[in-house]
Amino acid sequence: MIQMKKKKIVVVGSGHVGSTTVYTLMMAGTADEIVLIDVNRDKAEGDALDMNHGMSFLPPVRLRVGGYEDCADAALVVITAGAATTPGETRMDLLQRNTRVFDNILDQMTPHLGEGAIIMVVTNPVDVLTQAVLRRSGLPPQRVIGSGTVLDTSRLKGAIAGHIGVDARDVFTFVIGEHGDTEVAAFSATTISGMSLSEYCRLYGCCEENKTDLCHLHELHETVRTAAYHIIEKKGATYYAVALAVNKIAKAILSDQKAILTVSSLIDGPYGIRDTCLSLPCVVGAGGVERILEAPYSAEETRALRHSAETIRNAVESIEPAFIYSS
Ligand code: NAD
Repeated sequence: MIQMKKKKIVVVGSGHVGSTTVYTLMMAGTADEIVLIDVNRDKAEGDALDMNHGMSFLPPVRLRVGGYEDCADAALVVITAGAATTPGETRMDLLQRNTRVFDNILDQMTPHLGEGAIIMVVTNPVDVLTQAVLRRSGLPPQRVIGSGTVLDTSRLKGAIAGHIGVDARDVFTFVIGEHGDTEVAAFSATTISGMSLSEYCRLYGCCEENKTDLCHLHELHETVRTAAYHIIEKKGATYYAVALAVNKIAKAILSDQKAILTVSSLIDGPYGIRDTCLSLPCVVGAGGVERILEAPYSAEETRALRHSAETIRNAVESIEPAFIYSS
């Protein structure tokens, strides 16, 4: 009898992001088993019941509420639990609160982690918490990833696509560095049908006001960098697009897609950055982060990337060593 590899995902946190992620994973048929964990068990049970009632419309999947022992045979554990930003707060403002939440989660989870486990952190500040999980879990660096700037990259693709009037899927670009205020839009590595963005704009015009040259890059990046703040001001949380981003990463891992995604992972060497979790384009497959791609960015972008790394590094050092390095 052929033994199929189990596609089990544990999602920790059944709030806006966690529950929407589960819904998206189910709709996409990414997993064959999903386990939901939340300190508020009623919320997790309510979500599981609600979503289970749609099972007849979806690809087969078992969804239930469980505990940390479920991590033992999971292919992927996604952590979305913790405080979210309120209007006026930055992601870094969440650090102390979510360090405490992660302390609690990691104490319970770590004894159950199987050798093949991959952990994906979504909770903010995502790069700092990815590094905390890496240290505490003892897992190899390629198996501890953050959702990083996968969402920001999608936002940038959408912004450029809208600006020049093409399909977002035909824009190749990257947001690198921190998932946060110091993130860097890598316009120098952006291509449209094999042309650089500036070449494309010179040939075809990039917007109504300016038919001849590249323009509005700063505004495009600002729209992306501040997108979450505007959404949170209007409706209190962001969850749909991030759930799609998490599903994309999960699918790359569970289906060994070798997709190139700007997940957050340990960077130690490229661009002179040492021992810091941040986003660069990576090949993502069954092994987690299988290769980190070191592209030639402009001097200004490389400088901004190093500054972004420094910001994350300082935040990592501000968490008590007892938290980040205890095992
Ligand atoms: P939320 O308040 O709606 O949900 C948080 C959930 O975590 C709650 O259900 C709560 O009960 C649970 N929780 C808290 N402590 C827990 C613990 N110790 N163990 C288990 N569960 C626990 O928040 P949200 O809007 O879902 O946001 C969650 C996190 O995701 C935030 O940090 C937010 O900033 C982040 N986020 C990240 C991205 C990204 O791109 N990485 C995008 C959006 C939101």
